[in-house]
Parts: sequence; structure tokens; C-alpha cells
Amino acid sequence: ARQFTRPLNELANQFNTLLSAIAGAERVFDILDTKTEDENDSGEDVEHIRGEVTFSHVSFSYEKSDSTIMDVHFHVNPGEMVALVGPTGAGKTTIINLLSRFYDCDSGAIFIDGKNIQQISRSSLRKSMGFVLQDVFLFEGTIRENIRYGRLDATDEEVEEAAKQANAHSFIMRLPQGYDTVLSGDATGISQGQKQLLSIARAILRNPSILILDEATSNIDTVTELKIQEALKQLMKGRTTFCIAHRLNTIRHADQILVIKDGKLIEKGTHESLIQTRGFYYDLYTHSDQKDVG
Ligand code: ADP
Repeated sequence: ARQFTRPLNELANQFNTLLSAIAGAERVFDILDTKTEDENDSGEDVEHIRGEVTFSHVSFSYEKSDSTIMDVHFHVNPGEMVALVGPTGAGKTTIINLLSRFYDCDSGAIFIDGKNIQQISRSSLRKSMGFVLQDVFLFEGTIRENIRYGRLDATDEEVEEAAKQANAHSFIMRLPQGYDTVLSGDATGISQGQKQLLSIARAILRNPSILILDEATSNIDTVTELKIQEALKQLMKGRTTFCIAHRLNTIRHADQILVIKDGKLIEKGTHESLIQTRGFYYDLYTHSDQKDVG
């Protein structure tokens, strides 16, 4: 899996930083999961979310003085893979934050399965979402507990089944204590790639309709990388996926590429159609050093 070198690869470095913000989000979700009552959780519980997502002329700013997101408008069918592409600070993370209801839009609206997300309880919204991020959140506890974090009522069998599907089972079984291996807080005993596999196992257990994906870019050996790619491919099947993508390969296979710049959705389409348009995406692509990859 070769990558865009410049400028997307430089952007990728920045993604690391901004996605730790989303990793924080995952933690917040999990903390909220354990809460019995959320006083501010208005909206109704939705049993099953299919994963159709519509942004209807969404604008948002963190501070009144400037607009972060301006008139963003797109539609995603259930099960589609969407790549978010664009410079650092463009607003990609903010789009994910709005979709997750960490913030409410100032104008416009976001719909999931045709329902305004302000009318969907945060608890059912977050139940339908899963995250696989570079900065994997692992806590001090056994591997089993760390995977089970995806769904707290999962049985040991379900945990192992998820680990198998995530291509994590074999490395776990090679550890002296297997699933009972205790990870220290910083999980120094396992590699970056293995952390990713645990994160994928966790997401499989969670069985989300909407998947938020941040591709890992570095420090992963080729064999593990292939395992990750294969597991992600399985995980993404039938789920709406928003991917902050670093790899041309991933971007190319996206059903839709959303090109975000200065808070605006400036281009959208497939790789082929955006190349034909010869706009900003085309420039990113042709200015990368490996335009023949993929
Ligand atoms: P991207 O994910 O494309 O790098 P972000 O959505 O993280 O972009 O950021 C968009 C803009 O919003 C940036 O100018 C960033 O500095 C700003 N921003 C992001 N998060 C916050 C926040 N919590 N408070 C204020 N400004 C923010």
C-alpha cells in the first residue's frame, strides 16, 4: 500500500494530530455509554440505523467570528464508502464531529435515514457508530477486556470471533497469556499494527452502521499492513464508511470523494470523475510524486 507522497503525505502527518481529537471522541462515546441517564440527550431512540447520511446546506462555526463549515451539502447511501480529502484545517474532522452530534450545526441540517439527527438520541446515534483510528485507545486491562470495550455485553466467544475476523486471533494466541494478556496503559507490549487489529476487532463487536476510519500511515510492517487492509475491507462491507484517507488506493475505490477546502465542499465525485474535472483534486493527484500508484 504505497501512499501519496506530496502533498497528501504531508497532510497525513497533520491528520495524526487532528485525529487524536477523534480518538478523544471515541473515549467520550465510551464514557457516555456507561452512563445510565444523559440529561441532555433529547431525541428518540432509533432501533436500527441503516446509515443513509445527508448533509443539507450545513454551516457551522466554533466561534462566532469565523465560519468553519460553509453550506456543505452531500448525500450518502447506506453502505457507501466516502473518502474525505483536503488540506489540514479544511474542516474534515468538524464534519465528523457534527455527524456524531458533538456539536450542532448553526444552519442547515444533518439527516440519518431521513431523520434529523437532532431528533435522534445521542445514545442510539453513538451505538450505531464505530471508530477505527490511528491513535488506538487502549486501557490497562486484558486484551479480552480491551476488545470487549466495543460492546460490553459480548461473550468470550463473541470476543474471540471478532478477533478472528479482525485477523488478530493468531497474534493474540502467540502471546504468553493469550486473551488474558494484560496491556499496560501505553500497550508497549504490542506493535502499532497489532493495536490497529484490536481496534478493528472492537469495531466488529460493535457492529456499527456508520464507520469512521482513519488510515494508519506509519510504523506498520507489510505483513500486518496486509492483515489490516483485509480486515478493514471485511469490516466496511455493508456499512456507511467515512474515511479520512491517506492512500490513493483507498481514495480510488471510494464511492464518493468529498474534497474539502476552507470549510467548503469544493468537489465531489469518484476518482475518475474528479480527475476529468481537472480541479483541486486533480492538482493534488498530479502533484503527488506517485501518480502511477494504485
Ligand atoms: P481538518 O480535519 O480538515 O484538518 P478541522 O475540522 O479539524 O479540519 O478544523 C477546521 C477548522 O476549525 C480549523 O481552522 C481548526 O483550527 C478549527 N477548529 C477545529 N476544532 C476546533 C475547536 N474545538 N474550537 C475552535 N476551532 C476549532
